[in-house]
Amino acid sequence: MALDTHSLLVAYTVNVAGVALGLSLVLGLRASRAALAAQAGVLAHALGWLCLVASDTFAGRWPDLLLSTLAMAAMSSSLLLLLQAVRIWRGQAPLAPGWHAAALLMPLLYALGFAHYPWRVGLANGVLAAQMAWVVVEAARPGATGSWRWRGLICASMGTMALVTLWRGVLGAFFTEAYPTFQTPHPVNLVGALGNNVATLLTAIGVLAAFREEAEAQLKTLAITDGLTRLLNRRAWTERAEVLLADARRYGHPLIMLMIDLDHFKQVNDQRGHATGDQALQLTAAVLGETVRSGDLVGRYGGEEFCVLLSHTQEGAALAFDQRLRRRLRQRSEQELGFLLAYSAGLTAHRAQDRSLEDLLRRADAALYEAKRAGRNQLVMSP
Ligand code: GH3
Ligand code: MG
Ligand code: MG
Repeated sequence: MALDTHSLLVAYTVNVAGVALGLSLVLGLRASRAALAAQAGVLAHALGWLCLVASDTFAGRWPDLLLSTLAMAAMSSSLLLLLQAVRIWRGQAPLAPGWHAAALLMPLLYALGFAHYPWRVGLANGVLAAQMAWVVVEAARPGATGSWRWRGLICASMGTMALVTLWRGVLGAFFTEAYPTFQTPHPVNLVGALGNNVATLLTAIGVLAAFREEAEAQLKTLAITDGLTRLLNRRAWTERAEVLLADARRYGHPLIMLMIDLDHFKQVNDQRGHATGDQALQLTAAVLGETVRSGDLVGRYGGEEFCVLLSHTQEGAALAFDQRLRRRLRQRSEQELGFLLAYSAGLTAHRAQDRSLEDLLRRADAALYEAKRAGRNQLVMSP
């Protein structure tokens, strides 16, 4: 079977254009930042190949220089966009915008040295291969987020293409007579054209899998958090509290439960509007989040009611926590809302005879009721 590189390249260009359009249709403009970068990357890749295949029609004339340079700029940008997507999906900060400018340095040098074939082919393929290797490194990096499935697909496809691209660059730069154009029926071009087809498909599947994983993680977070305050919702807080309680019981750690209810909150809504009430709840959640230690558990238990479990904590330290929380909430509400927020709290410590979380909740609630009855803006400890 005779495979001619020109037909393979044209078929590949049509294929990659189809994949790019398909991805854009499925992901769309409202996708996450990483998915936007990935689909823009595949579009740029398709554009790059269109330019490269078209450039061949004008071999040796100025449109060749223009189209080939555009092709290199599109391919380099496409790999940078894919790298950005992989970085975000892996929980890393995206690279600074300066890198997008750096991605255009290679095409610039390529255009300047266009007349010198070994230089431009060696440079372009060397840089593109290094960019592919960088994507592999980011996808393979252990320890960050992302399942091995999509990372494996991207590593395998980008890793293979990095090797083929490097091979092309070495041939172009040092064995030019064996590799006079990218359409020569040299094995590297046959392997490259076939490999590109598979790699593009696998990368697109990897991108879709990563996007799905990201959407699933967002749904999971939504299911356990309260939309207004971003704290754990009641169900998630209760589930985690059961675990903390079981630990405290097994290892004999001291554990404190605080139930907190904002004072006269209905008045806040009535006098200042519901939006200000919402802001007050968000501020309370933020102050709570800043004041607890890692390992403690804060949740929005109901409307303006919050529950806190302080692990490895004795009553004295819990009282100090309450004082800190009151002071900060007073300061910040005055500064940020223009009025004072206060709360009442019921406190109880875990006891050996407690049979469930319910026992602690009941005592904390009774103590909270006492704090309200005694005039609010105070903490009552369960007897
Ligand atoms: P007390 O000092 O006895 O706790 O008085 P209170 O006014 O805080 O108590 P009450 O339970 O009568 O009112 C709680 C109010 O909290 C009523 C409800 O409209 C408000 N609330 C509950 N959830 C939200 C919310 O998500 N946003 C806003 N803005 N208000 C809320
Ligand atoms: Mg209440
Ligand atoms: Mg209240």
